[in-house]
Amino acid sequence: MMRSSTARPRSADAARAASAELQTTNERKPKILFVASTSHSGSTLLDLMLNAHPEIVSVGELKQIRRYARLARKLQRTPRCTCGAPNLKECPFWKRVDDMLTARTGHGLADLNVEDYGDTETFNADNAKLYDAISAVSRKTYIVDSSKHLNRLELLVDNPALDVFPIFLLRNPKGQICSALRKTVKPEENAYGFMRLIVSYVWTNWRIRRLTAGRPHAVLHYEQLIANPVATLTSLMQTLGLTFHPGQLDWASQERHNIGGNRMRFETSSELKPNDQWRRELTPRQKLVIDLGTLPGRYPMIRLIPPAN
Ligand SMILES: [Zn+2]
Repeated sequence: MMRSSTARPRSADAARAASAELQTTNERKPKILFVASTSHSGSTLLDLMLNAHPEIVSVGELKQIRRYARLARKLQRTPRCTCGAPNLKECPFWKRVDDMLTARTGHGLADLNVEDYGDTETFNADNAKLYDAISAVSRKTYIVDSSKHLNRLELLVDNPALDVFPIFLLRNPKGQICSALRKTVKPEENAYGFMRLIVSYVWTNWRIRRLTAGRPHAVLHYEQLIANPVATLTSLMQTLGLTFHPGQLDWASQERHNIGGNRMRFETSSELKPNDQWRRELTPRQKLVIDLGTLPGRYPMIRLIPPAN
């Protein structure tokens, strides 16, 4: 992987201060809570609910951090941070992470390898440094990464420098496929797109199952999170060695700096709405095809996949 050698000019005092802060605040190895799911399974909501816990910081789809940082540097397009900053350069949180990384490694956010899975050496080293810097700046030990990408998870769980705990988020296939169909498939490719989504649901969940088998992980059902958030989050927090915090129900009012994910990350209301458009939008035939088509995905997960009701 080629790195850019254009580190931003910065003062020696700022570099020393950032480096000292990193050393004094990283006494504990951060625990990475990696949300593994298909797209359109509620990962943004879970990310925000976890971020609202006082001991957890969520950063959204961290695999996109280099792209966000490069766009902010070029100012061609400036995706907003969820804190309201017009781009990462102007977000105080990501600015401090960037300064800390630059002080310690000579490479800032725009030069990290977070998505080149072929170059495992820089991928492993850069992600470890990135999580350390996020933990130091946020002063939190638990970091939520909802990148979802399974090649990323595969490398992260094999990295001995990291403590990774996957959270397997499952949504009922009719809800997930209906949502994906509405947002990602053009009407003219409807039949092909529909079948592709069924295959993707089965394949992705099978792969997550395989990646998490034999290692500590949690399984969470999106439908249960919506229907009974207190019980679902209480159980998850206990698994993580934490206690449910009431602020997790008021997730929209908490400070956050997530990148990527759907537009819910900018939501200002914490009201949970039942996401059951699939009941009206899918035809009876589509529902039957989904039920039959996802049967292979249900085995051996037959007891894991949530019921539609
Ligand atoms: Zn921000």
